[in-house]
Amino acid sequence: MRLVLLGPPGAGKGTQASAIVSKYSIPHISTGDIFRANIKNGTELGKQVEAYMKKGLLVPDELVVSIVKDRLTKEDCKEGFLLDGFPRTVNQAEALDKELKDMNLKLDRVINIEVGKEILIERAIGRRICKNCGATYHVKFSPPKVENTCDKCGGELYQRDDDKAETVEKRIEVYQEQTKPLIDYYKEKDLLLNIDGTKSIEEIFYDIVASLEGDF
Ligand code: ADP
Ligand code: ADP
Ligand code: ZN
Repeated sequence: MRLVLLGPPGAGKGTQASAIVSKYSIPHISTGDIFRANIKNGTELGKQVEAYMKKGLLVPDELVVSIVKDRLTKEDCKEGFLLDGFPRTVNQAEALDKELKDMNLKLDRVINIEVGKEILIERAIGRRICKNCGATYHVKFSPPKVENTCDKCGGELYQRDDDKAETVEKRIEVYQEQTKPLIDYYKEKDLLLNIDGTKSIEEIFYDIVASLEGDF
């Protein structure tokens, strides 16, 4: 299965991605995670992207596209993949189409998680991430069993630099301007699955699986 997860910042893409990739045994490709790992490891790429991310701006298309292209040619993508947070501009979507065409492949579905601004802000601001394994929590909606400690690995939790109130607002604006046009882009290609992202984590996952399997 070749899937894209689309949605504004804080919609629940990463949360659903973890459940989807484990159900379908496909790799989870999150460009945001790739960038954060590079920043943490002090790589050249990390240095190039850090300032954009801190301000809540998109990283330039050239940087993102080459990373994704490279990742898609890896052995584990042969049977499918889930792209989370890519594409984010029409230009990136066109580059992805071209790359897949060259590989003789096609996307199966684009899952669009819909959530309004108020909820997005509350979700993003309360988000906490494990320093060690990257697992995602929420102080109110999905708290760890022990405060500030990852259930899975015992790692310490932290708040992303770009999950502060002003930056979240900026990211939502950037989404409206640069990413939202992808909804029409994929609707025209008849790939879009709209999912109500205001429900619980479990209900949303159920809806995604049901619509992927044509069970509606
Ligand atoms: P979100 O929770 O906002 O969906 P991500 O972890 O997907 O966050 O992305 C965090 C940041 O990484 C973005 O605000 C942007 O700066 C950068 N980024 C991630 N993916 C892309 C992309 N496809 N194009 C440009 N920038 C990206
Ligand atoms: P994205 O990858 O789209 O930015 P995340 O999956 O990281 O979003 O979710 C953002 C925050 O909201 C996280 O703290 C997560 O635990 C929480 N969250 C995700 N889905 C839901 C939901 N359906 N209801 C309540 N909180 C949620
Ligand atoms: Zn952990």
